[in-house]
Amino acid sequence: MDTVCYACGDRTVRATRTHCSCGEPLWLEASPPRSWPVSSDPGMWRYESVLPTEPPTGVGAAAGGTPLVRTPMFDTEGVRTYVKDEGQNPTGSFKDRGSAVGAAAVAASGGERIGTVSHGNMAMSVAAHAAAHDLDCTVLVPADISNERLANIAQYDPEVLRVEGEYGDLYRRTLSPGVETPFLNSDTPLRVAGQKTTGYEICEAFSPSTPDAIVLPVSIGGHLSGIWKALRELRSGGLLDRLPRLYAVQAAACDPIVRAWNAGSGEVSPIEKRETVAYSIANADPPSGTRALAALGETAGGAVSVSEDEIGEARRRFSREGGFRVEASCATTLAGLSRLRERGEIREGEEAVLVVTGSGFKESVKADIEAETIALSEVDERLV
Ligand SMILES: *Cc1c(COP(=O)(O)O)cnc(C)c1O
Ligand SMILES: [Zn+2]
Repeated sequence: MDTVCYACGDRTVRATRTHCSCGEPLWLEASPPRSWPVSSDPGMWRYESVLPTEPPTGVGAAAGGTPLVRTPMFDTEGVRTYVKDEGQNPTGSFKDRGSAVGAAAVAASGGERIGTVSHGNMAMSVAAHAAAHDLDCTVLVPADISNERLANIAQYDPEVLRVEGEYGDLYRRTLSPGVETPFLNSDTPLRVAGQKTTGYEICEAFSPSTPDAIVLPVSIGGHLSGIWKALRELRSGGLLDRLPRLYAVQAAACDPIVRAWNAGSGEVSPIEKRETVAYSIANADPPSGTRALAALGETAGGAVSVSEDEIGEARRRFSREGGFRVEASCATTLAGLSRLRERGEIREGEEAVLVVTGSGFKESVKADIEAETIALSEVDERLV
């Protein structure tokens, strides 16, 4: 597959490049599908015809194919809601879709090592998929990473390097020509190719209808880019007659994409970020931010930020009203929906999909736990 620039249309057959000479990230061009797959594979590999590599065996085969569930408890002022539960991927987040494609492609081309810059979901995911292909894996983490995070990553036994200094600069460094190890960062073409399957799955589930809105938490913009790519391919193939509107949600503490959107700017500028519980979406200088803005614009969607209190409240609603244990970053979707409904950007009678990008089970939580201690002899009477 060729890599193409969404911004200037530049095309290159050297699929190893990640960025266009205009500076924007490249993506892999697939021939648009003319029909939904007949494959009985329930996972992401049913879309093999638009993916750049053959289906792997092992954990990569288990990526994607996540449930899309109707969630009446989250309906907001007449908006019908659905949850796309990406927490059910093998390592608990949608990152497995991109890692499955990336690791399989590197292994198929005879590569021996992959790397990533991450201290969260992507690190776990890349390390897991590397293990399944017997690839070496190097994970660059910040020097002050917590032991809890490190322990989660170490389960898959990658080489972990703690890097001192400005962690934000690492993304660019790993793409410099001197680096031979392919890095599967958030918006590399192979990763975006895998992550577009979230969009394929949502659209196929609604087909022949189309959801009105897809609401997702956004950091670097790789997942949003992938979903946008899916919509474009499906429309070119004649499988979508209109595009769902894409909405990016960010924590107000770190919302460079929302700020650029509100300012009507076509480009994202770096910001000073504050602390947020939504650490998975806290990139202050998002490499695919400008492409994310293009996705919001072309689909007539939008962007909204939500406060730490709103995130906490939405997270409680996810578990107490819905039974979903989500990461704080994903709770932003429900909080964002309320805002978008208030503003009339999503309207009564419309259908909205909340993309819950990662499971909350890998984080420990602080909570005031109310649980009474009773004697065995009291159990009967307490259960009448
Ligand atoms: C990585 C991640 C995101 C953000 O995805 P980007 O592609 O960086 O925009 C959102 N939610 C979770 C749970 C993630 O792990
Ligand atoms: Zn370009």
